[in-house]
Amino acid sequence: MRPDQPPLSAGSLAPDRIARLPLRPGELAVVVGAGVSGEAAARLLAAAGVRARLLERKAENIPARFLEYARAGGVEILAGEHSPEQFAGASLVVASPGVPLSVLVPLLKAVPPPAPPLMGEMELALALADEPVLAVTGSSGKTTTASLAAAMLREAGRSVFLGGNIGIPLSSHVLEGRRADVLVLEVSSFQLQGCKSLRPKVGILLNLTPNHLDRHAGMAEYAEAKFSLFARQTREDVAVLPPELEEDFCRRGLAARREIFADRGRFPRTRLLGRHNAANAEAAYLAARVFGVDEEAAARAVAGFTPLRHRLEPAGSLGGVLYVNDSKCTTVDSLRAALSAFEAPILLLAGGRFKGGDLAGLGELLRRRVKAVVLFGACREVFETAWTGIVPLSWHESLAPAFAEARQRAAGGDVVLLSPAAASYDLYANYEQRGDHFCRLVRELS
Ligand code: ADP
Repeated sequence: MRPDQPPLSAGSLAPDRIARLPLRPGELAVVVGAGVSGEAAARLLAAAGVRARLLERKAENIPARFLEYARAGGVEILAGEHSPEQFAGASLVVASPGVPLSVLVPLLKAVPPPAPPLMGEMELALALADEPVLAVTGSSGKTTTASLAAAMLREAGRSVFLGGNIGIPLSSHVLEGRRADVLVLEVSSFQLQGCKSLRPKVGILLNLTPNHLDRHAGMAEYAEAKFSLFARQTREDVAVLPPELEEDFCRRGLAARREIFADRGRFPRTRLLGRHNAANAEAAYLAARVFGVDEEAAARAVAGFTPLRHRLEPAGSLGGVLYVNDSKCTTVDSLRAALSAFEAPILLLAGGRFKGGDLAGLGELLRRRVKAVVLFGACREVFETAWTGIVPLSWHESLAPAFAEARQRAAGGDVVLLSPAAASYDLYANYEQRGDHFCRLVRELS
């Protein structure tokens, strides 16, 4: 669900802040995409007295509340296919993270000169924010690690804004006129691409595995975007990395002080499952430590941390069988982490829109940990080609019958794990709906 934006009126930003924007009041800014970020950016620009125009291909994506605000004169909204004319006369273009550069760049090339500069919503908001930034990126574990770092900072008495790619855009924070001791930002590769001003006091790069290659030109471009997190850091700043990325970091001649993280068993009291989460906690701690968080406060934060929804989230147990919802697992890498998190035999529910990756490479792990795989939904042939002969496999059209089979095969002491290693769009609007459906099926058991 989309979090509501604060109902702020135009002109509510202080003039000294407005002066930091790359355009003047009265000039035209075009925001592309009416997602949560696009909406927040449009409101921020309107509050600065800029003429804001929001473009959205699908009218139904524009929330009713925002339409009302726009009608009252806050923002001009143009729904439908984008065209170069919509950008004519603009002094700035702001892209939502959901809008691929491959769509925007050709459009802007067709705009009569001078071409307006392009930036992301986060970068726009950063121009107005004064607080130090702890930024988290990586292929998987961003939300968990950013949330852990925020919990540690709060436990140590710091005020924190936790947002970015995680759901609440930085523009909302800036617009509310709040101040935090630390901005903890989850940053995606799309937000990093082309971002020219982010200089986090601490940057965490958790891991780098093939993901979103549909939207990046290749692994090299994806890695470039991720490493750009550190590009503007100086020796005063800190980069937190896993051992396998240290060499790559050094080769790029980056200046920040390095902190290398690995699971050192520092936080044994936790409800988080898996060694990958222990490593996430370690990375969060090395970052939070820079802001004065001590190990005791961090340990209390980890002990009190509830596993996030849809990320190896225990959904209930019945007859000695534990049911775990890991619907957010859309990659092979996250599936590897999930399978490694249990000693008990696993009944694995997997399948959906496969995003790529080496499924066959999981063969050994499947053999050791998995009793049977029950596939559901799309890309049946991809999973079957990779796993036939390794573990017992079956397939169903949808989750409910697959769940019923997994439940029937499970004995006391087993784990029924929804870790699809694929996107949910074949059967659901998003991974949350897929996970909610699984949890409902678990509840119906009792
Ligand atoms: P992101 O925000 O990067 O998508 P999340 O914290 O939302 O990451 O987790 C997404 C999926 O990745 C979940 O299935 C989770 O269990 C798994 N995951 C979390 N941390 C890691 C990690 N360090 N390595 C591999 N998979 C992970």
